[in-house]
Amino acid sequence: MRINIAIDGPSAAGKSTIAKKLAEHLGYVHLDTGAMYRCTALKAVRNGIALDDEQGVCTMLENTDICLMTDGTVFLDGEDVSKAIRTDEISLAASAVSKMPQVRADLVARQQKMAEAKGFIMDGRDIGTVVLKDAELKIFMTASPEARAERRYKQNIEKGIPTSDVETIAEEIRQRDYEDTHRAASPLKKADDAVEIDTSYMSIQEVCDAILSLAEPFLVREGSNE
Ligand code: C5P
Repeated sequence: MRINIAIDGPSAAGKSTIAKKLAEHLGYVHLDTGAMYRCTALKAVRNGIALDDEQGVCTMLENTDICLMTDGTVFLDGEDVSKAIRTDEISLAASAVSKMPQVRADLVARQQKMAEAKGFIMDGRDIGTVVLKDAELKIFMTASPEARAERRYKQNIEKGIPTSDVETIAEEIRQRDYEDTHRAASPLKKADDAVEIDTSYMSIQEVCDAILSLAEPFLVREGSNE
């Protein structure tokens, strides 16, 4: 039997990078749920739907296909939007649409359906508390806003994504932290049974190793077919 691993935490804490590496190592599927909120925001912005028009965004979602490929490519209605969803404008717009309870209900249902097959590493804000309450392993990943801004800046440069300077990114991260933790619908919160890892001074490999050692008891059981 395969397990599901939930990874939650604030913006740019390294969740997606770590989840992707772990998925490769374990032969699991990585599902970046933030990309789904970003696709929703991108389509709403493009279609001129106001970011406080919950009904409008929900109706739009009824005819929206979001496809996350195992190599990290994101398709929105068949178009590769992997870069378009990562701009600062869409980051803030994603935060706005993710406050809408009906939007969350739609995307959460899609995520739960996908994870039924097990063998998923899902990262987001509400995975351990809402989407996969029964995940075998839950991680709450944090890092200081300064460390996260540095990482996001480097990542943008590497990926050729238009970027603001580090201080502007840090400010945007603080704003999103505030919005993610203070919203009424599924605020960012550590699940009671999640293990917290502060990655500010850890390398990617160190974080992966820490999570793998927490997963080991389940994987051993998995191997022995218990
Ligand atoms: O993780 P990422 O920064 O790509 O997420 C984009 C936005 O989507 C976040 O600001 C957050 O508000 C929202 N989000 C969410 N629930 C998730 C994943 C992301 O509300 N499970």
